Amino acid sequence: MLTQGTIRPVNLDVNTLLALMLANVFAMAVAVPVVMGWRVSAAARHVLASAVAQALAWGSFLLALPVHDQLFSTLWVALLGASFVLMWHALRGWLGPRPGRPLLLAVAVLTPLGYGFGFEHYAFRVGWSNLGLGLLMLMVCLACAWPAPHASRRWRGLIVVCLGSLALITFTRGVLGAFFTELYPTLRTPHPVNVIGAVLNHIALTLTTIGLLVGWHEEAERRLRIQANTDALTGLLNRRAWRERAADALATARRDGEPVAVLMLDIDHFKRINDLGGHEMGDRALQLIARTLRGCLRRSDLVCRYGGEEFCVLLARTSDEAARDVDKRLRSALRAGGELGPGMALGFSSGLAVLCADDADLDAVLRRADKALYEAKSAGRGRLIRAQDRAVAAGHAALAVPT
Ligand code: GH3
Ligand code: MG
Ligand code: MG
Repeated sequence: MLTQGTIRPVNLDVNTLLALMLANVFAMAVAVPVVMGWRVSAAARHVLASAVAQALAWGSFLLALPVHDQLFSTLWVALLGASFVLMWHALRGWLGPRPGRPLLLAVAVLTPLGYGFGFEHYAFRVGWSNLGLGLLMLMVCLACAWPAPHASRRWRGLIVVCLGSLALITFTRGVLGAFFTELYPTLRTPHPVNVIGAVLNHIALTLTTIGLLVGWHEEAERRLRIQANTDALTGLLNRRAWRERAADALATARRDGEPVAVLMLDIDHFKRINDLGGHEMGDRALQLIARTLRGCLRRSDLVCRYGGEEFCVLLARTSDEAARDVDKRLRSALRAGGELGPGMALGFSSGLAVLCADDADLDAVLRRADKALYEAKSAGRGRLIRAQDRAVAAGHAALAVPT
């Protein structure tokens, strides 16, 4: 039966906490690769390597006292530093270029070096190593906090809070060890800073791992989204993604009263290229066309592989005349770069439709561009035909422009 006397305040023993920390780190080093698998991106492999480096670091810590203090303690510091460097590289893989890589590498090398060579001077080695490790944690925080428009702030914020707090306690340890040595003998003594540090280490390890797993999940989602929107052969938008974006661009242009042109292209006699050079040559030709289109268009233009050997371009803020110039540029660029082999010149027919007040939606513009393209084919290929606006088309024939 519980009496008042049996309820004691919780007594957090540093050595028990450190032993649990070791168990936790080893469990993470096994669980993270099992959950993520081995066939992951380079960034995710950095996360796996970071978990393994953490486990090895704490394994070295375990061996330091019974085997060789200087060697294994130095290894402990070096591997902890390496785990933060690997984490930083995982973040760079997911979030894009991050600042401070030279400083990160310099600190990761100098910290264990200084610790190993200054091992005999307790105050120096504790101050030096905690300063270095704290800096590495802050560099990882900075990598998380540095702007990354496509990544969620939640998991990055979690890592910043965890590693930021851990950096704070690490710096405190460094200051105590370097300047108040008699008050703070070793990491294993029951000093309040050690107790707080060990508890914080547990929490930070678990939550940072969760943050990194969410980052990995976000990466997988992003890849899927890109795959769902991209044509695998050419890397251009696919028809579905293009239609979505083009409909938005058209609505914006209509609202702002700006001109928009849609150009539909179909490669002429493409079957011949397949027949003469095989399917592989046909594929290379399609990739070349995609590169040429990308090279000739502005960032604000939308281009897709509409299907087979047909491409569609939405030219933002572009009038009829300017769209014809784009068409001309594309033709001459293809002529210049399209030497796939003898008898394999690349040319195309195109239909141009400019958004007009009568167009109800994107489909209305596409129908007119498609009709004009059909007319360009019928008129002998290798030319652009501009679709008449609907009101005008009722009275006049389409206007052919041989090129
Ligand atoms: P036209 O001038 O009338 O447009 O003639 P064409 O030969 O270009 O058109 P047609 O529609 O007769 O043939 C299109 C060819 O494009 C047939 C098809 O095998 C080829 N094609 C479509 N998609 C691909 C692809 O992904 N790779 C390769 N290599 N060929 C493709
Ligand atoms: Mg076709
Ligand atoms: Mg064709």
